[in-house]
Amino acid sequence: MSEAGQSGLVVMKFGGTSMGSADRIQVAASLCAGEKRKRPVVAVVSAMSKITDLLLNTLKHAEGGDREGMEANIATLAKRHYDACEELLPESTRPVVRTGIDELVGDFRRIANGVLMLGERPVRSVDEAVAIGERLSALLMASYLQSQNVPAMAVNAREVIVTDAVFGNATPLMGPTRERAAAVLQPQLDKGILPVVTGFNGATADGRATTLGRGGSDFSASILAATLDAAELWIWSDVDGILSADPRLVPNARVLDLVTYAEAAELAYNGAKVLHPRTLAPLVSRQIPVWSKNSFAPEKPGTKIVPSIPNPTGPRAVTSMANVALVSLEPSSPELAGTKLMGRAFEALSASGAEVLALTSSSYRQSFCFLIRKDELASALQALESALSLELAHGYVKPIEVDTEVGLLAIVGEGMRGVTGMAGRIFTAVSREGVNVIAIAQGSSELTIAVVVRREGLEKAVRAVHEECGMGN
Ligand code: ASP
Ligand code: MG
Repeated sequence: MSEAGQSGLVVMKFGGTSMGSADRIQVAASLCAGEKRKRPVVAVVSAMSKITDLLLNTLKHAEGGDREGMEANIATLAKRHYDACEELLPESTRPVVRTGIDELVGDFRRIANGVLMLGERPVRSVDEAVAIGERLSALLMASYLQSQNVPAMAVNAREVIVTDAVFGNATPLMGPTRERAAAVLQPQLDKGILPVVTGFNGATADGRATTLGRGGSDFSASILAATLDAAELWIWSDVDGILSADPRLVPNARVLDLVTYAEAAELAYNGAKVLHPRTLAPLVSRQIPVWSKNSFAPEKPGTKIVPSIPNPTGPRAVTSMANVALVSLEPSSPELAGTKLMGRAFEALSASGAEVLALTSSSYRQSFCFLIRKDELASALQALESALSLELAHGYVKPIEVDTEVGLLAIVGEGMRGVTGMAGRIFTAVSREGVNVIAIAQGSSELTIAVVVRREGLEKAVRAVHEECGMGN
């Protein structure tokens, strides 16, 4: 283990609502400061709530040639941060921070103006522009900590997190990032300074700005925790931890005290909002535990995410996704083998960037269907149709069928591995409610059972499964 690991470094990540106002930033800062009395701390911050959406919306206005809309949004952006600055900081430090805000807003305006002139949004410029939300919140948080006599420094993750060049959804290069973290952050930590690092963004090795995908600040935090050999990662949000179900659907949903990496990752991929799906991966090899905690109720224990739990029993949680579509493909002529069709289809899908959430196939008819997000449907269909244009035109493949009136629920738990009859019980519970099951798939890990149902029955199905499996309080 490195020095950082031995010194018990903790990475603390604050989401948009935990950074959403001067009051919230104060709370986040005091959580960091309290911890820093015991051990070194790196903070990772999201943009203030709704700011990333605002920035993206501004660029849309700019692209459409709407200067007025663009300027109105930029005024909102500046005001939100001026107001927080005003409330948060003593008068003496405000002018400097206001200048900092002006500079960042100015950077954003420069990019938005470029988009306005071009009439298009180059992906690279978008990534540079949206990261300004995080740079503004990091500036406020670091300035506030300094005003409380906690040595702190805002750090642009562009200087630290090295990624590939997939703009908008980049993947970190862990080796180079480790070197940068050691060069940029470790010296600060050694001097007792608390780095406040922007979540969400990074840069390619040759310095072009990238982002890690929406909600990617969790991922930023885990990348930094892994590359700094942190002892723990704490992810602060506005919910009490990882729950057995969405409490808006299931009133007796329970906060789980202990969850494995694999369970947390499955839950995140299947629609639980509490963690970005890619968060856990960097932590696995170093077995760094994660706490999911509520910054609005820090006294609550939260959920601890660990490599493994001793005696897992049964399913733990159920998630659901409503905005999904089921796409079915079927060869109509024996000249085209099902596996060949599958290969072609998935190659096209992967090129379109669509993610397959569940897949079932029938070996007899060589047909298969898969579930994707509704907002990826149009580009996925376009990719499929062009990849299979000849086969479709000559009738080797039946017309592609799409069903958008479906929903997915996923039942997750380490304790389901090897348990027989689980799928049957789930199936029965859902059917008892009169909900039509369209497809059922069990992941190869046996950790998750995914069920596709008619959309109107989704909520009922979630409640039925939660009840049947005794997941609640
Ligand atoms: N601010 C970014 C977003 O809204 C990243 C994050 O909050 O995790 O997607
Ligand atoms: Mg988030």
